[in-house]
Amino acid sequence: MLEETAAIARDLIRFDTTNYGNGRSNGETEAAEYLGAQLEELGLKTEYFDAAPGRTSVVARVEGSYEGLDSTTRPALVVHGHTDVVPADAANWSVDPFAGEVKDGMLWGRGAVDMKDMDAMMVGALRDILLAGKQPKRDLVIAFFADEENGGVFGSHHLVDTQPQLFSGATEAISEVGGYSITMNGQRAYLLQTGEKALIWIKLIARGTAAHGSRVMENNAITKLAEAVAKIGRREWPIHLTDTTEQLITELARIMGSDPQQVGADEIVLSTGTAGGFIRGSLRTTTNPTLLSGGYKHNVIPDEATALVDIRTLAGEEDAVLAEIRALIGDDIEIEITHRDVGLENPFEGPLVDAMVGSLLSHDPEATVLPYILSGGTDNKALSLLGITGYGFAPLRLPAELDFPGMFHGVDERVPLDALVFGRQVLGDLLLNY
Ligand SMILES: [Zn+2]
Repeated sequence: MLEETAAIARDLIRFDTTNYGNGRSNGETEAAEYLGAQLEELGLKTEYFDAAPGRTSVVARVEGSYEGLDSTTRPALVVHGHTDVVPADAANWSVDPFAGEVKDGMLWGRGAVDMKDMDAMMVGALRDILLAGKQPKRDLVIAFFADEENGGVFGSHHLVDTQPQLFSGATEAISEVGGYSITMNGQRAYLLQTGEKALIWIKLIARGTAAHGSRVMENNAITKLAEAVAKIGRREWPIHLTDTTEQLITELARIMGSDPQQVGADEIVLSTGTAGGFIRGSLRTTTNPTLLSGGYKHNVIPDEATALVDIRTLAGEEDAVLAEIRALIGDDIEIEITHRDVGLENPFEGPLVDAMVGSLLSHDPEATVLPYILSGGTDNKALSLLGITGYGFAPLRLPAELDFPGMFHGVDERVPLDALVFGRQVLGDLLLNY
């Protein structure tokens, strides 16, 4: 018999909720209805919202007792997950990505890491609390959003824009990509996500003269575009430590036994092993070209060529970085901003942080908890527009050798079954007692 949390995560993986981007998606309705039914079984009243056909989010509120808390302001905590996943090419996987296979003590499948594991842990934690007849201290807004993997246009942003009353009273939120453990120097540390980089997706458009491929041609759109793309892709952005990353580097150096005055931040981060690739991106701006397009025949010079660039900056540096890119590639290339979202940096202190750290350490007393900035983004960006402070806290105690960060959007996503039970317990403690 599969443990309850794992069974829920497996059921969720079996709904193919692939989000292809640009509004193209297999839809989240079935997954939302499944999760809604789980919440209804606990006596909660659910509300469903379709931002577009098939793009369903579901929200419920658990009433708090406010015992020992300021009941005049009634601050609520949002606990949110997303139900969509990025595409998976089955040919690259060693299992069917949508079968929810269990082997080697792990649950495999697209979403096992991002983030059907946490969706299931949320339900499991609520079951532990509500079926035991207990009541959390504060109101919990439980939300399962559609479309996180394409910026939340048909999910969190839609609800924040059109249904802000769902989040009334909420001041803080917890969700994905934080709270998981890494092991360095034989010591386990949990990375609590306290911030997210900003994102700007731009399209570069180079225009030239359409002509026969045999002509002498200075004004070649593809040549101009390629030069701009190379400049952006090769740009080495300097390390810029913020309060969070400064604290993180200091702690990592302590664990690794290195001196941060002598050893560079990149080197310290890389010495942590599997998490290194994830953390390095949070120390600086990154500007990665991700798509090239132009031309239609071998002997025709096209009049236009385009490229997409994924820019991630630290919070507040967006405009300065855009200006630098403009200066780098010159005025001849058009820059179109296709999507942007804010960056966040929240303090690694305060009652919620204390509660998250406390519930982790009560289940894993030997470990350390460290703050980090996510180089990607989550639905916490949308909630921040309502003044809600969001953290990444999907607690998982993981084996040292598992490259967990590498499995986000990667192949053979898998999560240990016992980590799901650990997560459910830690989360349950937090939701009950905070
Ligand atoms: Zn995610």
